[in-house]
Amino acid sequence: MNSSSPNGGNMGPINVDTVIVGNGPSALILSYILHGHVPFYAGNHDDRILDSKLAACPNLLNAKPEYAAHFPSSMRYSTQALPINVLLDTLIRPDADTSLGTRTCVRWAYRPELAVSHLVVGDASCPGGQWEEDPGTLDMNIGTLSYAEMLSLPDYSIEDHHLQVYGEKMPELIRPTRREVAEYFAAYPAAVAIDDAVLSSIHVSDIRRTSESFYIGSHGISCKNLVLATGIFTNKILPPPRLQPLTMLNKTPVASDAPNPSPEEALLVIGSGFGAADVILSAPPTQKIIHMFKWNPEARPSPLKACHHQAYPEYAGIYRHMKLASISSRTSINAQTRRNSTMSNRRKSIAMLGGRDWKTTYEGIPNGEIINVDVDGEDNRAAIVTIKLPSEAVIERRVLGLQYAVGRRGTLDYLSKPLFDELFAKAISHHGNEKQLFSHDSAANYQAPISGDTFRAGAEKSLEIAPNTFIIGSLTGDSLIRYSYGGCVSVAGKLMKSATQILETPEDSVPSSVSQSEPQSLSSSVSDIRRHPHPETPRLEPVKTSGPAHGFVPEAWQSRDEQSPIQTKAPPPPTSQHPPTEDGESPVIVPSAGNAGADTESSHNVPTSWWPQRQAPGCVVS
Ligand SMILES: Cc1cc2nc3c(=O)[nH]c(=O)nc-3n(C[C@H](O)[C@H](O)[C@H](O)COP(=O)(O)OP(=O)(O)OC[C@H]3O[C@@H](n4cnc5c(N)ncnc54)[C@H](O)[C@@H]3O)c2cc1C
Repeated sequence: MNSSSPNGGNMGPINVDTVIVGNGPSALILSYILHGHVPFYAGNHDDRILDSKLAACPNLLNAKPEYAAHFPSSMRYSTQALPINVLLDTLIRPDADTSLGTRTCVRWAYRPELAVSHLVVGDASCPGGQWEEDPGTLDMNIGTLSYAEMLSLPDYSIEDHHLQVYGEKMPELIRPTRREVAEYFAAYPAAVAIDDAVLSSIHVSDIRRTSESFYIGSHGISCKNLVLATGIFTNKILPPPRLQPLTMLNKTPVASDAPNPSPEEALLVIGSGFGAADVILSAPPTQKIIHMFKWNPEARPSPLKACHHQAYPEYAGIYRHMKLASISSRTSINAQTRRNSTMSNRRKSIAMLGGRDWKTTYEGIPNGEIINVDVDGEDNRAAIVTIKLPSEAVIERRVLGLQYAVGRRGTLDYLSKPLFDELFAKAISHHGNEKQLFSHDSAANYQAPISGDTFRAGAEKSLEIAPNTFIIGSLTGDSLIRYSYGGCVSVAGKLMKSATQILETPEDSVPSSVSQSEPQSLSSSVSDIRRHPHPETPRLEPVKTSGPAHGFVPEAWQSRDEQSPIQTKAPPPPTSQHPPTEDGESPVIVPSAGNAGADTESSHNVPTSWWPQRQAPGCVVS
């Protein structure tokens, strides 16, 4: 019997073993494993200690963080990421940080009889999570921070996809564009035959714990295990109230293919990290930019500082312009003139970075404070912004738009309050300080924005943050895709109990492209969900805004600790991996709207071998 959906749609009740909320890269990796792909150590890792430990226990679903106990004594391994994530990272790509090549120490064995029934439900329009979101004014052709091989998922790499689509090998050491990565993730589920379980454009809410399971009120789904893979980048941090009038201005086009704006039409960009840099890089070269940023290179440097000028010329160039602006702001005119006459070659080369004449179209204002905003005229076309400089001088600038790019946050507003409270209580018990888990003005509010810090302390103990409730992906505090594998393998080890019993690499493995059977009853229920993706559930606004916040440090993504100063390691050579971190701005967070859902509850037991219907192809990222 079908139950009624919150939005009046007639959805079939569904019961699966596991629901993964979020359809980003980590959800796709976990789904791949839950389809019956068991990772085995294939040998040949040149870390002898690790090799001997794993040779005795090659089924990686049993991998323990203890296998990485000796890692801290080696310069080779990251000390920032979770040990289980570093472990799988070095097994998947043992040579990642030292040489080219695709050597791996992991073999995926396909054992469909061990598959666990599950659904991946995410609100991104295609598989890929935040990579599939509308970038707004940002240019989809901006290169990713990671090199291509660090973005690959199991069994069908981004290089495979490139070959498939373009008929030629992907060049080595390439930073693909955001568009290419989005297209790769969108194609991935079909390529490895997991698309039967991956649902996109589905926003779930009202997830509750019931006596023995979970119930997703918005879509009438019951499950024994709940995996949260909703990431920490869903919502852009909103400007503080004083800047709100600037968000009402008629939007100034900033896409790089927009008609050339007049030099007088300034865009105000606020932020000191990658989000702000991406906005500047996406703007037409003639667009005048007024860039306000925090400048504290000793205590809290911009994440852009870690960008080597050969590996990341565009970000290193912007950092240099910020630095020049900070020097100018505290140097007398005479000294500036002397300095200009001895301008280095590199400085000359950044003078026209990205085709922009930086001298005339970029004004950097370090550590300024906006003390007043006057919307100019009735048509909301422009505003006069009054800025107090660190010297106490006050200046005014006319701006036609604001891009507030100081960071992004995730949310758990899709959980019922009791379930949120349960997870929050656990997080506090691990962390000890609730104010550091959430922004100071929203602590203990279950709609509060969350960061990589929220569950980090708990994740260091277990990714099962509460009974049958797991986290993977950037929610664990390790945001890079390369570090998603460890968490997914670890969680899969708990969900696929029978698969952990396999001791040896099975010889009878079949290729992973074999798909499972698709029973009609669950298929029709899932197709109902596909027809009714959006129950009437209020969401955080804005839901899909642009202006991402990320950055990187040489060793690890530091989103879990925004207060930490950047690492002081020397810039890596261009061949190295450069993990990102969030923008180095103190966030101003505006409390968000609530959510609601249905009270209907139903159950319909489905054998673990049953699978929902295959997703219609054709998810194209434009
Ligand atoms: C601008 C930017 C650039 C980055 N560049 C890199 C890079 O170069 N290399 C790298 O390794 N990492 C990069 N990252 C880090 C990023 O965290 C990872 O690439 C990766 O996307 C994390 O995957 P995830 O599985 O945790 O989930 P995400 O990709 O964050 O996806 C989670 C999804 O869950 C959805 N969701 C949330 N709530 C619900 C709900 N209630 N119902 C349904 N769906 C929901 C969200 O809308 C989102 O689509 C970047 C991040 C940003 C923001």
